[in-house]
Amino acid sequence: MTRLQAIDYPSPNHAARPEPARIDMLVLHYTGMMTGAAALERLCDASARVSAHYVVEENGVIRQLVPESRRAFHAGVSCWEGEGDLNAVSLGIEIVNPGHDWGYRRFPEAQMAAVEGLCRDLVARHPIPPHRVVGHSDIAPERKSDPGELFDWARLARAGIGIWPLPQPAPQDFIISPAGALAELASIGYCASAEFQKAALVAFQRRFRQSCCDGRLDAETAARLSQVRDAFARSRAARGGAPHTSKLKASCSPCK
Ligand SMILES: [Zn+2]
Repeated sequence: MTRLQAIDYPSPNHAARPEPARIDMLVLHYTGMMTGAAALERLCDASARVSAHYVVEENGVIRQLVPESRRAFHAGVSCWEGEGDLNAVSLGIEIVNPGHDWGYRRFPEAQMAAVEGLCRDLVARHPIPPHRVVGHSDIAPERKSDPGELFDWARLARAGIGIWPLPQPAPQDFIISPAGALAELASIGYCASAEFQKAALVAFQRRFRQSCCDGRLDAETAARLSQVRDAFARSRAARGGAPHTSKLKASCSPCK
């Protein structure tokens, strides 16, 4: 398979993956710094101890900072499907955007096209199933909000990357159940607990119900939860996997 065009831009921040090495997860981030140049500088600063395998600029330029065979330092304390140490098993892509602290803005078309092409290439070359393509906020909801509610997950899903089922109206007799919501978050893969359910709901909304991310279990969010849970279950079942249960936490941003 032809590799995507990426400019080598080596970072010193990487380590060996534990043996036996496996790469079966893809984590998408935004850089969250004022400029792409500032982000690249930090990701290549040995004292910062952070990195990602790839950085995608707003103009669509892709840089490779860390070889895929190596462990990059992008996920931090995180959890998905009950599993921690996700840097060991994942590839990380940093997408240049100032983020919520510095003027969060839409991801330009050139950048999204590059992200899509890069992700396509990665999921084709590694055994990364759709239910293991996640945002940083999905795996660290109490700490992170990237890539955020402006990121076009639906587009990636149409290209076969990750899961984003088309929203369906809730059935007439749909009942909202907080306990059920927690179980649904866990079966999607979120490491959710009652204490941090709101954070997990915000992360869920940033990805699957992007019009409002207030962490409230409203009817639309509740209905969306069961649709997404079913889509994740189908993806796992198609690969012979079982549903999941886990733990969680976060912070919330005002609805727009
Ligand atoms: Zn991140």
